Amino acid sequence: MRNLIALIACSCVVLSASANDPAPAAAAKLAASVSKPASASMPTKEQMARDAAKEPVPGKKETAAPSHQEAPARKAAPVDDDKEQEAEVALSAKIAERLAELRERQQARATAAARAKKAADARRREEEKAAAAAAILAAAPKHGTVWSYEGELGPANWSKINVDWAKCGTGNRQSPIDLRDGIKVNLEQIGFDYHPSSFNEINNGHTIQVTVGGGNFITVGNQTYELQQFHFHRPSEERINGKGTEMVMHLVHKSYDGKIAIVAVLLERGQPHSLMQTVWDNLPLEKNEVVSPSIVINPMDALPEKREYFTYMGSMTEPPCTEGVLWLVFKQPRQASPAQMALFSRLYPLNARPVQSTAGRMVKESN
Ligand SMILES: [Zn+2]
Repeated sequence: MRNLIALIACSCVVLSASANDPAPAAAAKLAASVSKPASASMPTKEQMARDAAKEPVPGKKETAAPSHQEAPARKAAPVDDDKEQEAEVALSAKIAERLAELRERQQARATAAARAKKAADARRREEEKAAAAAAILAAAPKHGTVWSYEGELGPANWSKINVDWAKCGTGNRQSPIDLRDGIKVNLEQIGFDYHPSSFNEINNGHTIQVTVGGGNFITVGNQTYELQQFHFHRPSEERINGKGTEMVMHLVHKSYDGKIAIVAVLLERGQPHSLMQTVWDNLPLEKNEVVSPSIVINPMDALPEKREYFTYMGSMTEPPCTEGVLWLVFKQPRQASPAQMALFSRLYPLNARPVQSTAGRMVKESN
């Protein structure tokens, strides 16, 4: 019977203790104290027995109830010691089972609580970090230099990357545009004064760009512009009546007083493009590495046979989206072979700014 009371005492201690408490030590201590026949400990045992009786342990109540008030009565009656022992063993097993179950549950609760706290702490730290970063970004004027054609750094956000790129978002003379409803007039021919020239080439991370040696000019009206460089986009940035082509070549010119004029030559699939082939043959192995081949190219090879064109005032099609650019877009595309197109698409599958609002701009086109 003493053992039984000790077990019940144990169960009480464990039931009332949390998983983090030193329950086993306390239980052991208490068990040790109740196993001593000291009279001082008797009220505690009774209390423990009563508490245990409240627990929903099957069979516990009946067995725990006859504590020591009933003991004298039992002792007086003829008692079968074996039966009592058997009952004690069975009860001990049940209590042990129940204790194990409760311990397991307490452990699981404690583990879950610890995990939840850890996750909440991590989340709070992340939020604090994000808030600090956002505050720094909001306070500092933006002078980012990195942009792309897709995602966070894509065309829709160019104006937010750098304060000097505001025109990309707020300008009303932006390029490219869909060329339609043009005013058909007798546009004067563009005068081309191009020659075989030295060149160098760079893969600048946005396109393949060829810088052409000096001495190549166009004349539009009474203004002369010198060819600076040409580069490629895929697909074409400009559209004609809503329709684009697979690629486009932009030849960028500058006047002596800094005005920009860009000639656009649309590219469609067909015969090989000899100038494009020379450019591809000399591609730099690394981005931003400049190569200067010892051969010459003739920019005349970039032009289509027919020279009718659209013209309008627009902008650079990449940051900083500078406006005041005279655009000259040939109506007739030039051809390039599927293999030549495929080669560029491996480097730049998409490097075209979407079409911008015309905002009521006049578009003129050759008859
Ligand atoms: Zn371009």
